[in-house]
Amino acid sequence: MSLSPSLFSVGLTFQCPQCNFTVIKNGSWFQVVSRYKCEGCGREIRITYADKIAIFQKHAHLAMPPGAR
Ligand SMILES: [Zn+2]
Repeated sequence: MSLSPSLFSVGLTFQCPQCNFTVIKNGSWFQVVSRYKCEGCGREIRITYADKIAIFQKHAHLAMPPGAR
């Protein structure tokens, strides 16, 4: 299982596990991020590779078909 490039230019949502504040970032951001500062609670939130897999799977239906770009 890897992170599909078809989601790199698609906005994906992730909820802070501490306060449920939602961030929306492109897949390419999730691909490289390992932590970010939550705007809701100000805490530093870690995003693991397993989290990324889950995020990408959750948004798989938004992936652009090959050739549509
Ligand atoms: Zn938060």
